[in-house]
Amino acid sequence: MATLVIHGGAGRIAAPRRDAYRAGLRAALDAGFAVLDDGGHAVDGVMAAVACMEDDAQAFNAGTGSALTSLGTVECDAALMDDTGRAGAVACVTRIKNPIQLARRVRDATPHVLLVGAGAEALSDTYVDNASLITEGARAAWERWKARDADPEGSATCGAVAVDDHGHLAAATSTGGVLGQLPGRVGDCPIPGAGTWADPRVAVSCTGRGESFLTTSAARMLAVDLEAGMGGEHAVAERLAAVRQADGEGGLIAVQRDGTILYGFDTTEMAWGWRRRSDAGELEEAWDVSDEASIRVVP
Ligand code: ASP
Repeated sequence: MATLVIHGGAGRIAAPRRDAYRAGLRAALDAGFAVLDDGGHAVDGVMAAVACMEDDAQAFNAGTGSALTSLGTVECDAALMDDTGRAGAVACVTRIKNPIQLARRVRDATPHVLLVGAGAEALSDTYVDNASLITEGARAAWERWKARDADPEGSATCGAVAVDDHGHLAAATSTGGVLGQLPGRVGDCPIPGAGTWADPRVAVSCTGRGESFLTTSAARMLAVDLEAGMGGEHAVAERLAAVRQADGEGGLIAVQRDGTILYGFDTTEMAWGWRRRSDAGELEEAWDVSDEASIRVVP
């Protein structure tokens, strides 16, 4: 059954901003699921959902509205992977409106998996000013971070995983990284197996403190545990526990080939959503910004 699961980041999403996140989640579900519902490929479905969230200037730390580095600039990472094992990723790109599209270009037009900075940008036909990616909200959060104000709003990376009508799986993740990160810092998002993963059984996208997802190979290890027969809830709990052990916190989403949906987080908030059509043609969906750490499996 065609299934799309998305996240708009795990972190701190203050109450007054949650409606903007909900609206953005719904728009991304509409964009991505329209592709799947039309018989499209999972890769195109996750691309459409993530590009929609990258373009959303009111919510999500990716593309326009990315979190700012310590220098007050935007540096984006993005990755795409499908169940054939093909992946494309970019890191530290500064002049690209939709980093996820550039990641796809790396995958489709080069023999490489990950390109960074100017080398990645050279693949693009169009460029934007770094300043055009900076929103008022991101600038205000950065000012508070600089002033060491208590608890500025954290990051809210976006991601999508999907299985299409033909049983193909794909995962895509895009982020501006973490607020105040050092220039040149790369998180888990563009590293296959850390923040993004897809194989013939499951597709995974992570969000949270990238360093901890990197050092615990979070996305790949979730796939390994599920393949070994671990129950979904247990497998997600194990990953979040490992991340916590590595001094981090965050969340993840996943979809299995049979359309089973998994998501969980242990931060104060996480934005998530899913939509799927059963083989009998019934549409089911849900999306929200949750503020109680939890793990869900929707069989
Ligand atoms: N995982 C992202 C990173 O570390 C940030 C996030 O998901 O909030 O770059």
